[in-house]
Amino acid sequence: MVKAVVGANWGDEGKGKITDMLAENADIIVRFQGGANAGHTIINDYGRFALHTLPSGVFYNHTTSVIGNGVALDIPKLFNEIQDVINGGVPKPKILISDRAQIVMPYHILFDEYEEERLGKASFGSTKSGIAPFYSDKYAKIGFQVQELFDDDILKKKVARICEKKNVLLEHLYHKPLLKEDELMNTLHDYRDMVKPYVADVSSFLDKALKENKTILLEGQLGTLKDPDHGIYPMVTSSSTLAAYGAIGAGIPPYEIKQVITVCKAYSSAVGAGAFVSEIFGDEADELRKRGGDKGEFGATTGRPRRVGWFDCVASKYGARLQGATEVAFTVLDVLGYLDEIPVCVGYEIDGEVTTDFPVTAKLEKAKPVLKTLPGWKSDIRGIKEYDKLPENCRNYIEFVEEQIGFPIKMVSNGPGRDEIIYR
Ligand code: GDP
Repeated sequence: MVKAVVGANWGDEGKGKITDMLAENADIIVRFQGGANAGHTIINDYGRFALHTLPSGVFYNHTTSVIGNGVALDIPKLFNEIQDVINGGVPKPKILISDRAQIVMPYHILFDEYEEERLGKASFGSTKSGIAPFYSDKYAKIGFQVQELFDDDILKKKVARICEKKNVLLEHLYHKPLLKEDELMNTLHDYRDMVKPYVADVSSFLDKALKENKTILLEGQLGTLKDPDHGIYPMVTSSSTLAAYGAIGAGIPPYEIKQVITVCKAYSSAVGAGAFVSEIFGDEADELRKRGGDKGEFGATTGRPRRVGWFDCVASKYGARLQGATEVAFTVLDVLGYLDEIPVCVGYEIDGEVTTDFPVTAKLEKAKPVLKTLPGWKSDIRGIKEYDKLPENCRNYIEFVEEQIGFPIKMVSNGPGRDEIIYR
């Protein structure tokens, strides 16, 4: 049985918390895309952790954490993270790294920085984790697959090709120090020694697990609106954020994904540049940002203040549809308890016409939010365990959103902790 936990929005919906929670009854948790460019904040019995590469199921003794082939594997960051988790008192996790995963090289990170610097004001707001250069090289067929680390002939040839190509750009476009073949070889040898104990044929491991009826969670990073095909291109990430890609990025049959738990946050937040129709500014935004998440809306990887806005039914309906949501987990609802009234974006006005269909980017840039205001519940809903015990206006908010997006909200998260969840 495979369940995917994915985001309907721009990321930071609280997928980490939901994955950590569901991992209690799972055997294997797989990261299938993305890299260390976004983070999941997990609060559980061991404390508060910011994970970037490890799957959020790493906190249990009984789970295996898998880095799938679709991931941008930053080896030093992964090892720091493993150490942080162990230092936090968590039992040493069981980790498998796909022999087909590719490696984020130090020059990917540098190229990411150099390009953002070169673009200046027109930059993408990249986290500078090397993700776009990494995936560009993967598809240009000059990336390093984990299994290649164990063949020096392959490495030497590839390193020479890479230096030849990259050094032209470094010299003439960026005016930065050049790559050196021997330094790259040393780095690759270090990486080889680090990953060696963890390397596995992940797709056959998962195939066996499926035959043994194990429960597998696929943990997505970011959300639909950052998908390179279906998101707000070009202000997107460089690997697919959709549950469907879970089949590819983990190496399992697509029909095995039986549940797509699509996480949707009770208001909107986004990092990086790009259209954000229901965005709010000024004091109103500062207040929501300060109260948001578990410690305010600041990036788990970068510490950057996140952009915030009201719940966007148009984007979330689209986001849930493209994920193939079988159910929605509605998160961070407790944060809205301070508001007298809560605006919700129910439509986009584009060139004088109102639509509830999420448009392509050129039209999105012109969209103005059509807002409907719902009454707030003006109370703290943390600690409530049953749906019927929620204040009436809070239930009305949930049910209004559910009707607008057209997918069943089966879980409501009313606090960052593992057990702060209400099932419907
Ligand atoms: P992810 O990338 O989707 O895993 O999301 P992040 O971890 O980046 O952001 C979600 C933030 O909201 C984290 O700080 C979580 O601790 C926090 N969080 C998750 N669920 C809830 C909730 O129901 N209520 C509150 N107040 N915070 C939550």
